[in-house]
Amino acid sequence: MIVVRRPDLSWVEQLYLPGFWEGLKITLRHFVARLSGKTHITLQYPEERPPIPPGYRGAPVLVKDEEGREKCVSCQLCEFICPPRAIRIDPGDIPEDSPYAKVEKAPKEFWIDMTRCIFCGYCEEVCPEEAIFLLPQTYSLNGRSRGELLHDKAKLYAMGGVLPRPIRKWANK
Ligand code: SF4
Ligand code: SF4
Repeated sequence: MIVVRRPDLSWVEQLYLPGFWEGLKITLRHFVARLSGKTHITLQYPEERPPIPPGYRGAPVLVKDEEGREKCVSCQLCEFICPPRAIRIDPGDIPEDSPYAKVEKAPKEFWIDMTRCIFCGYCEEVCPEEAIFLLPQTYSLNGRSRGELLHDKAKLYAMGGVLPRPIRKWANK
């Protein structure tokens, strides 16, 4: 058995006033900083937004090329690599009237369950088409139900928009 001895306190320490004063000094420092406007407690969100810390990757979204075409070819690599299985893809064909019909595929549906996503970025790394990205500006993810956090294809493209990147395989055709 180990006996932990209580420290011997001097009579000043036994008054507890020094400890009380140390704590009060911190409170006063914050009080003065707040009065002088040095610190802001409340942000008028969403008009005011906090700075995004460096290193924040963002949330996964789908992007289109400069001509507004879907880059995703529904190869499902991201679906297989995703550790928490947050991605689900229903592969489909490019519309018959497209000049690229029967050449390439596109997802009929594409879901990312944001209640499962761990923001690891594997999907972005594995994608051969540079179609899925984690964009740092996508940090305000919320919903009133679990269903609203199941992002479908339309929402993923709306969030991602157009992201010019080197892979433009139809550019010279
Ligand atoms: S960031 Fe990671 S967890 Fe989220 S969808 Fe991509 S692979 Fe899955
Ligand atoms: S986003 Fe990329 S990896 Fe995922 S299915 Fe589409 S092309 Fe394949």
